[in-house]
Amino acid sequence: RNVPLTRALISVSDKTGLIDFARALAARGVELLSTGGTAKALREAGLSVRDVAEVTGFPEMMDGRVKTLHPKVHGGLLALRDNEEHLAAMAAHDIEAIDLLVVNLYPFEETVAKGADYETCIENIDIGGPAMIRAASKNHAFVATVVDVQDYAAVLKELDAQDGATSYEFRQNLAQIAYARTAAYDAAVSTWMAGAIHEDTPRRRAFAGTLAQTLRYGENPHQKAAFYLDGTNRPGVATAQQLQGKELSYNNINDTDAAFELVAEFGTETPACAIIKHANPCGVATGTSLLDAYKRAFDCDRTSAFGGIIALNQTLDAETAEAITEVFSEVIIAPAVDEAAKEVVAKKKNVRLLVTGALPDPKAEITTYRQVAGGFLVQGKDNGDITLDDLKVVTERAPSDEELKDLLFAWKVAKHVKSNAIVYAKAGQTVGVGAGQMSRVDSAMIAAKKAERMAKAVGLAESPAKGAAVASDAFFPFADGLLEAVEAGATCVIQPGGSMRDQEVIDAANERGLAMVFTGMRHFRH
Ligand code: 5GP
Repeated sequence: RNVPLTRALISVSDKTGLIDFARALAARGVELLSTGGTAKALREAGLSVRDVAEVTGFPEMMDGRVKTLHPKVHGGLLALRDNEEHLAAMAAHDIEAIDLLVVNLYPFEETVAKGADYETCIENIDIGGPAMIRAASKNHAFVATVVDVQDYAAVLKELDAQDGATSYEFRQNLAQIAYARTAAYDAAVSTWMAGAIHEDTPRRRAFAGTLAQTLRYGENPHQKAAFYLDGTNRPGVATAQQLQGKELSYNNINDTDAAFELVAEFGTETPACAIIKHANPCGVATGTSLLDAYKRAFDCDRTSAFGGIIALNQTLDAETAEAITEVFSEVIIAPAVDEAAKEVVAKKKNVRLLVTGALPDPKAEITTYRQVAGGFLVQGKDNGDITLDDLKVVTERAPSDEELKDLLFAWKVAKHVKSNAIVYAKAGQTVGVGAGQMSRVDSAMIAAKKAERMAKAVGLAESPAKGAAVASDAFFPFADGLLEAVEAGATCVIQPGGSMRDQEVIDAANERGLAMVFTGMRHFRH
């Protein structure tokens, strides 16, 4: 069911590639219909165009709100050309068939991203465009719909291959792409409105996404995967510029996100580094310099850091780049990279180097989604932030200033560790991380074991867990988890509190001279 292409309606806001494409169509004898701005651009390029206003007999009106919303246009897009009644209606009302619709929409997402005011955003909601896209796509039995500048070349290729016509499969494929676009467009409008309307109003969530990259595979080679942008422009892996290295994989993207979100917790003031493996930190540290922060993060778990993802909160310099590239890493991500550092990393061709321009705001209100069988779970991102003032000392001994610093440091890291999370930290450096265990005692044990390994690898006389602060992402349901940490040598504890047996845990802490603070906030991460 090939349909010869004789008439095209082109109405585009993004005029990239327009002239070349329209010229190629005209050269194949295709008649061009167009709306105001598009027609003007085509005429200026010397192409002959008919105005949609001439076809409809109505001028474009109401600031362009009404241009193409007319039976002469929609009849031409929707008519079934093998249906006697439809053909009779076309003849009776002088409606001409349109074989190709080329539309890209008012730049709503870009307008929102620019921070435009409410009225401007509203004016940038395209009405006639989506109406035409949906009509033409419904009628893909006869009409081809192009919504993406990227697809112009494919249309020309198809016309060459099909002798000036389009095939059914080709049009069907374009229709599927077109509905993905209108769905994402309306979702973007709804998501923007959810943020713009009164706080207390209940909202219904819409899911928006624009395809950024088809990935080679997913978490495993037999899984298909793709990467979509959500239009928020949050600094991070989705919006970063990749300076070198192979294409990012699904796991790279996931881990890089975890790494950068973690390091962003430290702001830009104090140099900080996070090294991530399988979405969990295997080393996090602040330092006197970025190099110092990297080295201390690396020292926490040198074995696991191999092939890791490295996130930095400041401009990557040559010295730090030298140290990082001594060991194989999959990805380095930083807000900026200086020229000398670029040269250093360039020597390791496989390392992916990403620059984001900024750190994301850890306190931003963001919606996250997770799929379950038959549905989506939607929640606000864990943007909880605990400061000194939020801490409640529950033991006889209060933590020293040094201990408080380490407690808050360990707490920040624990927020980014899969539950059950136990983190030992000393002097702004993780010294043992226990992640993802089904019991808190096991996580405490693993973290202690890792601290012992660190001692061996780095050449310390004793386990660095001795005298360390320990953070637990959720309360200790029994004293046993706490005792495990005591055995490892921890001297102070940060945890949410709120267990039925809090008193038991506090008593155990007091007996051993520990200082313990409650945050009143939990950081489960599953
Ligand atoms: P132009 O630059 O050609 O004047 O306008 C092109 C834009 O107008 C396209 O983005 C197209 O989606 C949009 N458009 C076409 N028809 C209508 C309509 O009837 N109403 C509105 N609001 N937008 C339309």
